[in-house]
Amino acid sequence: MTLKVYSATLGTETHSFSPIPTDMDSFRETLLLRPGELAESGMFQLFTSPQGAAMQRAKTQGWDVVIGPTAFAMPSGPVNRSTYEQLRNDLLDCLSSSLPVDIVLLCMHGAMIAQGYDDCEGDVLARVRALVGPDVAIGVELDPHCHLTEEMTVNSDVIVIFKEYPHTDYRERAEELAEMTASMARGEIKPLMSVFKCGIVDLFYTTREPMLSFLSKVREFEGKDGVLSISIVHGFPWGDVPDLGTKVLVITNGEGGKGAALAEELGRELRELRGKCRGERMGIADGLDQALATEGGPVVLSDGADNAGGGAPGDSTYILEAILNRGIDNVAVGIIWDPMAVQLASKAGEGSQIALRIGGKTCALSGNPIDLNVAVKRVIRDSVQTFAGTKVPMGDSVAVSVGSVDMVLSSIRGQTLGTDAFTQFGIDLRTKKIVVVKSMHHFHDSFGPIAKRVICVDAPGVVAADLSSLPFKKLSWPLWPFDEI
Ligand SMILES: [Zn+2]
Repeated sequence: MTLKVYSATLGTETHSFSPIPTDMDSFRETLLLRPGELAESGMFQLFTSPQGAAMQRAKTQGWDVVIGPTAFAMPSGPVNRSTYEQLRNDLLDCLSSSLPVDIVLLCMHGAMIAQGYDDCEGDVLARVRALVGPDVAIGVELDPHCHLTEEMTVNSDVIVIFKEYPHTDYRERAEELAEMTASMARGEIKPLMSVFKCGIVDLFYTTREPMLSFLSKVREFEGKDGVLSISIVHGFPWGDVPDLGTKVLVITNGEGGKGAALAEELGRELRELRGKCRGERMGIADGLDQALATEGGPVVLSDGADNAGGGAPGDSTYILEAILNRGIDNVAVGIIWDPMAVQLASKAGEGSQIALRIGGKTCALSGNPIDLNVAVKRVIRDSVQTFAGTKVPMGDSVAVSVGSVDMVLSSIRGQTLGTDAFTQFGIDLRTKKIVVVKSMHHFHDSFGPIAKRVICVDAPGVVAADLSSLPFKKLSWPLWPFDEI
């Protein structure tokens, strides 16, 4: 049977307390394509993988595929109401004019908050269900840093979440999603979703123990005894929503009781891993001491609190300031979001020497701007970096230096994902003692192999690990670390 499939992307990750609001330009800057444009654009990445999986099946399995709009914004503060409603309505209008369909395949990330909407994904899915009716298979791919709500599970059939953090497995998960929804549409399976709320919210790095072992146990349950798929919702700790939290989602072939029991078993086990799944962290001074005491290099210092991927500006200067004050040589720092400095350095041009004010511009947690006399090393228009085979825009960017301290500045905000964020500017990371990356964990995929050692530094910042200072108002149930277990 020929399956007719509608596939679209709408997502961002909202940090309720980020100083950077999200509007249509935020989507335009990251990824915003009209219906059908994705194929020509070739902009396949993390959050378009269900659309990619559908288009692949149009070629190999004769699916009749309608590609709807594609919209994703770099994580930041709540989306303004008119932007969200416009994007949502575009997705629904395109679906409406494509009916009837057998399958709706969406990528939504799963932590979008807009003015007036705590649960954008639940809102979209309820409207999709109302349009297509109860019999159409609705499949959704999410990021583990999502808020999985009842509104979402009630109004969809199959939800598959990236298992890995860094999210390197997005293509495999999209393949599973496409296969399961197709099986459902052909009447071969009846997916039933069961969710267990763990009563905690935490970060779970999957490239190390104990998550390596936990996930291999999860995988052993999949594909047998009626268990179709298991997803782990890490939760996004900086979203002020009633449904914040770590959860386990089990999809069975119509065996709800079994799914609920397995979700609870795994969820209780995961709860006991709280506080154990992220690396050791230390203050800036200790981090620099430890880096200098390490033989060889480069030592990669993660500035996770200024991770743009979590909604931070990416322009804080605490670690850079400490490095300059201590006179440490052979350092690379990036990516610092500073469109104004990029503009000034670009005007001066490669090879020039200029006075430049760097960073510290967006908010109180950005620290002090730093005034330096810098050499402009390299100017690149519309630069990109790479994450797990995906190109991520950095916009016009420059590399400037003071002595052997190199700094990469970008005009599009984004976390440091690939070593090419530095190397495209001629910066040889192998010669560096310290490389400071503004990223919480995704940098591991590219920087891990070259790092002599990785040190997570607790600098001040918008995505600081200490959640207790944030003014949460909406959390609705006891939740560690705010409450005791
Ligand atoms: Zn994520």
